[in-house]
Amino acid sequence: MSDRSRCLFLDRDGVINWDFGYVGTVERFKFSEGIFDFLRKAEEKGFLLAIVSNQSGVKKGHFTMDDYCALEKHIIGEFKANKINIALMENCFEIDDNHPDRKPNPGMILRAAKKLGVDLTRSIMIGDKVSDIRAGLNARVGLNLWFLPDSPFIDKNYADTPDVLKEIASMKEKASQVKVVKSFDEALIYLT
Ligand SMILES: [Mg+2]
Repeated sequence: MSDRSRCLFLDRDGVINWDFGYVGTVERFKFSEGIFDFLRKAEEKGFLLAIVSNQSGVKKGHFTMDDYCALEKHIIGEFKANKINIALMENCFEIDDNHPDRKPNPGMILRAAKKLGVDLTRSIMIGDKVSDIRAGLNARVGLNLWFLPDSPFIDKNYADTPDVLKEIASMKEKASQVKVVKSFDEALIYLT
């Protein structure tokens, strides 16, 4: 067995916090219920925590880089206050879908894994969109948790829209690498 670290890679909007669409200011940022408890337990199970987030909102004009930096400072402060150690935050500010860092491309995960020295095959990705799951698969992350809670931390529930159902069906052949989870408690079962 590898003695290198394991990492829980986390998508941000829709997992860490409510996704109201292009969340880029402290005012519009709201942590998901149960996220601190979930991350504390993940750390107890020996996972490093890394956030890998597409943040195209600056280049698309939804918020400024100053807004983003203030928000990042707020997020780090809240995690510290709740005794959670985020080992790394990687953001992709690009809007070009071909950019190697922009999910579903694996650039951020691969870079984070290198920086942290983690074993990707023993690591886990969790995200609420198919692009998160595909990024995890593209980076050869061992297990990819598709976070689709019944009461999602987003502004609308798209978990059972035809496109998402089709994507889930298309993942069947990857069943050992992709699991749909409906809550943080259910996700914890996989963090063994
Ligand atoms: Mg998301």
